[in-house]
Amino acid sequence: MSDESAFPPEEKEHRPAKNGDEKSEEGGLSRRKFLAGAAAAGAAGVLGVPSIAGAAGPSVPLQVSDVGGGSLTLVNGRIHTMNGSGTVARSVAIANGRFTSVDSGASGAGGGSVINLRGRTVVPGIIDNHNHIVLMGNRPGFHTPLENANSIAEVQETLASRAADVPSGEWITTIGGFHFNQFAEGRLPTKDELDEATADHPVFVSQSFSGPSATNSAGSAILSANGVTVGPDGEIASGGGGATGEALLYLRQTLLTPDTRRRGAIDAMAYGASLGVTTHLDQGAFQATGQPSDGAAHEDNFSMHEPFLELYASGQLGTRLRINFLNLEEDTDTPMLVARLKNAFPFFGNDLVRTGGIGEFTAGDFVDLFLGNPGPAWEAGTLRAAQAGWRNENHSLTGNDFQPIIEYWEEVNAQVPITDLRWVLAHVPQITQEYVGRINDLGAGLSLTGWQYLNGSGPAAGPPFRMIVDNGDHVGMSSDGMQIAPMNPWLHMYFATTGIGSAGDPINVNQTITRQEVLRLYTADNAWFIGEDDLGSIEVGKHADLVVLSDDYFAVSDDEMKDLHSVLTVVGGRVVHDAGAL
Ligand SMILES: [Zn+2]
Repeated sequence: MSDESAFPPEEKEHRPAKNGDEKSEEGGLSRRKFLAGAAAAGAAGVLGVPSIAGAAGPSVPLQVSDVGGGSLTLVNGRIHTMNGSGTVARSVAIANGRFTSVDSGASGAGGGSVINLRGRTVVPGIIDNHNHIVLMGNRPGFHTPLENANSIAEVQETLASRAADVPSGEWITTIGGFHFNQFAEGRLPTKDELDEATADHPVFVSQSFSGPSATNSAGSAILSANGVTVGPDGEIASGGGGATGEALLYLRQTLLTPDTRRRGAIDAMAYGASLGVTTHLDQGAFQATGQPSDGAAHEDNFSMHEPFLELYASGQLGTRLRINFLNLEEDTDTPMLVARLKNAFPFFGNDLVRTGGIGEFTAGDFVDLFLGNPGPAWEAGTLRAAQAGWRNENHSLTGNDFQPIIEYWEEVNAQVPITDLRWVLAHVPQITQEYVGRINDLGAGLSLTGWQYLNGSGPAAGPPFRMIVDNGDHVGMSSDGMQIAPMNPWLHMYFATTGIGSAGDPINVNQTITRQEVLRLYTADNAWFIGEDDLGSIEVGKHADLVVLSDDYFAVSDDEMKDLHSVLTVVGGRVVHDAGAL
């Protein structure tokens, strides 16, 4: 259980009165404040669903998470079911966590609380089939996503809003998930600008895996006193082993405790829920060394899940977590992988938390893989994963790393069939049509990511969404947040449908897909990647996960897509996020 004294009292200002006026949310709060507020403050006692505020602590917007699920009726919406027939329903009923009716009538027949959607657009809960939510939950300080800020002013607004909920003197941090390209000014904020956002808290804002970073006056004083080189404008040089690595190590060593990790895990899941992400498939971390060379993506793969598992055990885990086991080792005997395959269970757990497969790395060396030479340890590990009958996922980041992976998978498949094991190649910015066909022949899938959105360059930054969707048998969508890319699925959908990067440049415009297609990849089609066929669409018998959107996804302009978020998120019939707009 978290130490409640560490949390500020719940800020009701983030939860406008429920007066039925849709403007109560949008008019009273900017989207930036809303998102920051959602992560920080959240809502309790929503919509007649019994609150567990006493048990959960005041910063918890997530509701009860017993596996049985809740009962709820939602009426008068535009409910895009993604059932394969393009059905748009008007009402749904939910009992015991699953949809019991999906109707074209305005009023559904169901039990539990009734929510009038007032014509809002509803989509299935977003499944993110490849991200790093567990890393986000283990950030030092009060991590505050900046992935939705479009300018320095919006950075300041987001940090100031967060500061209102964070005890004075505590660190406010942003570690990964954004790039200064997305800010109109094309740079990180200065010390003075961060001081304007909050002078009462030390601030550390760090881009991608290892900076560059920026800090305010309070942060500069503390970091400088602890040996970190900070420039006169608060700038901290990038690089693992550089000043950013030293700053990050200092923050981890001084701020991370079991309590603060639990708080971070709650915030991470709440942030996801505020965007409509209801299922996360986590893909692990680079193994931490405890040295300044560690970047944002480093953690201890053997203990980092604990805060999430503790939240599950105490009924505070509101959204679904699936766990892959990342493995990097250069010994061809792959002792770590062998131990994992012998001693862990794939697909073990329940509807809230379940283990998955091996990934996003199997063995070998990360850089060798990147260079297209995965090497003997990777090959040995890959064969062992197949022999054990496990799912396996690898990523491809270049134009020369997918061929050796797919070709070796073909060799493995000749010895040990993998066609039923749902192996996955992720990101694939440069994959060709020939190799998409070869992936199909292996029964494998392609997880597409808009990670190039933040910092890719055109004209074909990739992935080739159009070619892959036209040719792939199993295709899904993921964010690869929280270092190289944002978690926000609406940013990834914007990129997939426009090909426009965060700086406004056309970097992938010849390979776009439609809004219907990318939403399907992020929902119904991602069920295959999770390995569960009762998630991802709004159909009778499936898990009752849905998102009531802030605006009509199918009608808004391209730019407005980037501002979409959830006003109400339901997981298994439980409300896990409520912006008070209904
Ligand atoms: Zn990843």
